[in-house]
Amino acid sequence: MMLLDPTRCKGCKLCEAACSLHHTGHEAFNLAVISTHVHRDNDSGKITISLDSTCDWCEGEETMLCVKYCAYGARSVKQ
Ligand code: SF4
Ligand code: SF4
Repeated sequence: MMLLDPTRCKGCKLCEAACSLHHTGHEAFNLAVISTHVHRDNDSGKITISLDSTCDWCEGEETMLCVKYCAYGARSVKQ
């Protein structure tokens, strides 16, 4: 399972890029095939992070790529 902490998120969207790398077999960055979405509300500045049903928890990878590439600790793996 993954723990999400939107209060630590900076909105860099590296997690989305990393997710697309997983879904393209490490061939490309393609935001059309991502399972996680980061949204910042322009009025409030509030950030939300979501996962959709296409997330396979990075099956076949050594670790979840969106967690690996989040430099701000907004994502972590719950053992
Ligand atoms: S990589 Fe981390 S800090 Fe960047 S948008 Fe994703 S959750 Fe937020
Ligand atoms: S754990 Fe899910 S959301 Fe995160 S990179 Fe892998 S497939 Fe995408």
